[in-house]
Amino acid sequence: MPPTPRGRHHEIRGAALREFAGLRSDDARLDPHSLARFAKLMVVPFEAVRALSPESREHLLGSGKNSWSGGAASTRLPDGSRLIILNPTHGVNRQNATLMEEISHVFLGHKPSKLAVERRDRSGKINAREYDRAIEEEAYGTGAAALVPYSALKRMVLAGRSSAQIANHFYVSRALVEFRIKISRLWSEYKERGGGADDR
Ligand SMILES: [Zn+2]
Repeated sequence: MPPTPRGRHHEIRGAALREFAGLRSDDARLDPHSLARFAKLMVVPFEAVRALSPESREHLLGSGKNSWSGGAASTRLPDGSRLIILNPTHGVNRQNATLMEEISHVFLGHKPSKLAVERRDRSGKINAREYDRAIEEEAYGTGAAALVPYSALKRMVLAGRSSAQIANHFYVSRALVEFRIKISRLWSEYKERGGGADDR
């Protein structure tokens, strides 16, 4: 178990999600798509969304592509599921983390309405980032722990594997692995073993 309360909080919930996905070993790769249906999230390809104007489409895939990672419909389908799209300009690894975060929101019982808040400040500027930070942190942290479990991560770090190698193993981004190393308080072990020295 990770040494910090926050780390353990993520780990316990992440491990439950892995077990739910039927994974038996801590280094097995979790495919978030296998969990999506249990969370009643239906992932649809971006191209399948017909309601977007050409301008919106162009913005989402062009100049605005770095400003969003995914989106979920606020209205449920008759069977209770919600449609979700992932940013197709992001690599599969990043899409996996986005989907995993959305799944975590559902399993952690976060209210979707809370996440879709869009506020305007006094000058009228929209601030879509004004979400509940604690909720976002819990969902991302739990999703990341489900994708890269502590025990496997620690073993790989102590064996001198780089964040790039660990990322390749779990099909996640290097940024997510480094986030996990840091939040798990393994960064000094990682550096001592020359972690990342080969690919930086
Ligand atoms: Zn979120």
